[in-house]
Amino acid sequence: MTKILRLILGDQLHHGHSWFQKVDASVHYVMMEIRPEATYVRHHIQKIIAFFLAMRAFAQSRQEAGHIFHYYALNDPENRQSLEGNILQLIEKEGFTHFEYLLPDEYRLDKQLQEISQSLPIPARADDTEHFLTSREALGHFFKGKKTYLLESFYRDIRRRFQILMEGDEPLTGRWNYDAENRRAYDGKVPIPSPPLFDRNVEELVAMIEKAGIPTLGHLNAQCFPWPVTREESLQTLYFFVEKALPFFGTYQDAMVPDEPFLFHSRLSFALNTKLLSPMEVIQAAIAAWEKQPAQIHIAQLEGFVRQIAGWREYMRGVYWANMPGYAQKNYFEHQAELPHFYWTGETRMQCLSQAIGQSLSQAYAHHIQRLMLTGNFALLAGVHPDAVDEWYLGIYIDAIEWVEITNTRGMSQYADGGLVATKPYVSSANYIDKMSTYCRNCYYDKKKRYGPKACPFNSLYWEFYERHTDKLARNARIGMAYRNLQKMDSDEKAKIMAQAQFYRQNLNSL
Ligand SMILES: Cc1cc2nc3c(=O)[nH]c(=O)nc-3n(C[C@H](O)[C@H](O)[C@H](O)COP(=O)(O)OP(=O)(O)OC[C@H]3O[C@@H](n4cnc5c(N)ncnc54)[C@H](O)[C@@H]3O)c2cc1C
Repeated sequence: MTKILRLILGDQLHHGHSWFQKVDASVHYVMMEIRPEATYVRHHIQKIIAFFLAMRAFAQSRQEAGHIFHYYALNDPENRQSLEGNILQLIEKEGFTHFEYLLPDEYRLDKQLQEISQSLPIPARADDTEHFLTSREALGHFFKGKKTYLLESFYRDIRRRFQILMEGDEPLTGRWNYDAENRRAYDGKVPIPSPPLFDRNVEELVAMIEKAGIPTLGHLNAQCFPWPVTREESLQTLYFFVEKALPFFGTYQDAMVPDEPFLFHSRLSFALNTKLLSPMEVIQAAIAAWEKQPAQIHIAQLEGFVRQIAGWREYMRGVYWANMPGYAQKNYFEHQAELPHFYWTGETRMQCLSQAIGQSLSQAYAHHIQRLMLTGNFALLAGVHPDAVDEWYLGIYIDAIEWVEITNTRGMSQYADGGLVATKPYVSSANYIDKMSTYCRNCYYDKKKRYGPKACPFNSLYWEFYERHTDKLARNARIGMAYRNLQKMDSDEKAKIMAQAQFYRQNLNSL
């Protein structure tokens, strides 16, 4: 008699998957909270809690729908704390004849499950997660033989194939891209909406994690856990977003405001990455809101959002599968510095970094521009080894799963892939930070100064970064202006800037 064991990983919580279309007594599901997954990097405590809560809620909801589940809690005495150990235990105990799993999104787990499958005493096979719009291989095929992958062409192809905001082969509103209208600093003209924050008591879970000795980082209010971890909460967060925040999403997408971590962002990355929400339903909800209130939601806001999900998210996944495992070793600039200690505490006199890091520690969240143009920008200017940068990003954010973390961090933010993802390094001086935020107003450092007492470190480090990497960057047409300015710079002035940068790079921990 056929008896199937199906594995569901913690980021495969897809309620609508075809596996769950019908209840079958010969099919059992297994989910497990295991040490290796909780410790492969030091995770933010909110990230571990979110995963365990979401997994437990998912197993419960599927059980309520009639499916048979085996769930290993972290502290279950039967838990062998490994995928293979628990799978073998169940095969022995329950006499399964077949093993099935869903294709993991991470290279590490993909390899592990292929190896486990080969060593099992029963046949094994993998199914698709039915989550992404494109396949793992789609981007690799699309850009075959190309040195750089241009997001825009991949994104347009997806829009065409899925007929997202399209009229036949052309964009519905006549334009593909509204970036020029978007990305302004926040001017206070519209109030920032308060997103739904859930308030679960997670004291028991925290105690379990502490007792198991799982190292964590960051802070948590255990009486009031705010993240959406069920399908219903995720939908609530989605509907709130499309109604209240989408009307200003694009406009303030790049803005940074002290003590306002979420602004007009969706907070949907955890729900999307764990597959509680599908990318298509998120896109459709946004389009439906736009169709319902065209006077409130301009197409620029909608297209800016659709681009993130149908464009960047699918693109990053494709980059990952086209380039792993080598991508994890990329270090184009051969950077070697350690991550400054303040990344773990937020204790720096640079107001922008203190805020972005402090907020990351307290919320397990920072929005895209904070990740790219504050923490990422500084790490790149300071010459931090991409391994250390990756480890930090992979641990600290609620949504950090390697396929989307490493491509954003090593690729987009650190330019460690030499320009496969980004057409130029995302670095800036204080000028950009001041344009997009109000952090500089209350900063110890002087945003205008490039050297001397209280000179903003971003300024000298910015010029020294270009100077240091002249051989690798000077021919890049997109940054020709920076090199022309460097050439024109008075030699005495330049020497002072370089000396200031050297001093800061030697004293990163005391900034
Ligand atoms: C250095 C760095 C590291 C990052 N690490 C991660 C990560 O580990 N996990 C992660 O999900 N995102 C990561 N991002 C992308 C982005 O910052 C987050 O997806 C976003 O901040 C999540 O918040 P939100 O849901 O409010 O997003 P919103 O701003 O509301 O955007 C909507 C959705 O679009 C998608 N999206 C937006 N930008 C990107 C992008 N560049 N790549 C992929 N998807 C995108 C996300 O699913 C997001 O939920 C990283 C970006 C940078 C620069």
